[in-house]
Amino acid sequence: MKETRVRKLNSHASGGTGPVVYLMSRDQRVQDNAALTAAQEYALERKRPLLVFFSLFTQPVGRLMQQYEFMLTGLKEVEEQLHANGIGFLLRTGTPEQTVPAVLHEYDACALFLDFSPLRNATTTRVTLAQTLQIPVFEVDATHVVPLWVASDREEFAARTLRPKIHRVLERYLVAPEPVVRHPFPLETQPVDWSAAHDALRAPRPAFYAPPFEPGEAAASRLLREFIKDRLERYGEDRNKPHLNGTSGLSPYLHFGQLSALRAVLTVREAVRSAPKAVRDSAEAFIEELVVRRELAANYCYYQKNYTSLDGAKPWARQTLYKHTSDPREFIYSLDEFEQAATHEPAWNAAQRELLTTGKMHGYMRMYWAKKILEWTATPQEAIEIAVYLNDRYHLDGFEANGYAGIMWAIAGVHDRPWFERPVYGSIRYMNANGLRRKFDLDAYIRAWSGGQLRI
Ligand SMILES: Cc1cc2nc3c(=O)[nH]c(=O)nc-3n(C[C@H](O)[C@H](O)[C@H](O)COP(=O)(O)OP(=O)(O)OC[C@H]3O[C@@H](n4cnc5c(N)ncnc54)[C@H](O)[C@@H]3O)c2cc1C
Repeated sequence: MKETRVRKLNSHASGGTGPVVYLMSRDQRVQDNAALTAAQEYALERKRPLLVFFSLFTQPVGRLMQQYEFMLTGLKEVEEQLHANGIGFLLRTGTPEQTVPAVLHEYDACALFLDFSPLRNATTTRVTLAQTLQIPVFEVDATHVVPLWVASDREEFAARTLRPKIHRVLERYLVAPEPVVRHPFPLETQPVDWSAAHDALRAPRPAFYAPPFEPGEAAASRLLREFIKDRLERYGEDRNKPHLNGTSGLSPYLHFGQLSALRAVLTVREAVRSAPKAVRDSAEAFIEELVVRRELAANYCYYQKNYTSLDGAKPWARQTLYKHTSDPREFIYSLDEFEQAATHEPAWNAAQRELLTTGKMHGYMRMYWAKKILEWTATPQEAIEIAVYLNDRYHLDGFEANGYAGIMWAIAGVHDRPWFERPVYGSIRYMNANGLRRKFDLDAYIRAWSGGQLRI
């Protein structure tokens, strides 16, 4: 199955006399990284050194400094592990389109491996590199349990259409990835100047923003083990109760590729192999999120390029939202008011404050949060833009297919069906605070995340 994770992107048969290069981007880890093992296998067959390269984009993109620090600390761990295995590591600043040709030329590289992300910019980069470089270029889906292009070759309608396609092949892909081995054709590279890399980044560092997540591959494994030991058994019951710590908390690690989704599924499956049925069901609920929902989001962003616009919604959803665009709104808030958690509604403000202070809002509140942005803005397109901006700026797991698909689900009915028609929403599914109250202890959640105004 492993070869179906790899696709050759151009027709060049051979390259230079130097190392095989892996441009690490989406999958920032050493173990359980199919892109790195594919590059290593290719290098071993040709008796070449192996060089991992990271291109650090330093122009402001809306990220906060704390998020970069999470990433850089993880990459430092990657560098240490690679050096211990005889594999070189380089970091250069710029876009891959600027940095990759120079690095390949400098090392007279033999081939280039790329990891895979379904997002627009990453896809454009892969296509551009494959078309302009004169060496073999490969892409490897090391991110998804079932490679995106194997799961489906089209935009799926809903989880119910993708789920059977994934389950048909899932067992075949649940195979432990091969470990990275000590490379017998070593390549020495100068240690990265991490403080220079840090200083090259221009991003704000607000004092209120203090994500409680320890970065890196080792920390991700520890959190996975802790989740399995302490929370997996009740995940099915507790995951939609935002006043409890009932979910895995793994999304920041999955986002930066510090954890492999495949490894998480294998570890969870192994842990519950002889557990009672209720525990195995809870594990399956987790795997549904991590595989089906996550891969549905990726499928949406890869096949639907308008994933941050109303144009990316289905015709029924666009029509119903257009029909209700001129409905009077009881409240309209500006981006600033949303950002500062200054609405009239304590539940919404609590969710926004959870995000502003920890860098991660509970998943159940994310749905409510985005739906209220639809309700309290002048147009659905403006609601999408505000939700995307705030989601990406403050979530440690932002800039992610799950986020775009989640926002489009909440605001534009993506992967959902029409519900009862009502003002502003049309037939987009509605949520209100009373519904939250019926599901969990909303007051406890509000108490946990209340407080004075933050200095944004
Ligand atoms: C409006 C909105 C915005 C969102 N923004 C993001 C985002 O920016 N980044 C992000 O990773 N997720 C996003 N999600 C999806 C989901 O809320 C988060 O993945 C989840 O809350 C992360 O917490 P966890 O790892 O503790 O979740 P767990 O419940 O422990 O789930 C484990 C993993 O399964 C996947 N998963 C869980 N729920 C979903 C889902 N609904 N869709 C797709 N994958 C899922 C994630 O990879 C998650 O880390 C968003 C959802 C909505 C409705």
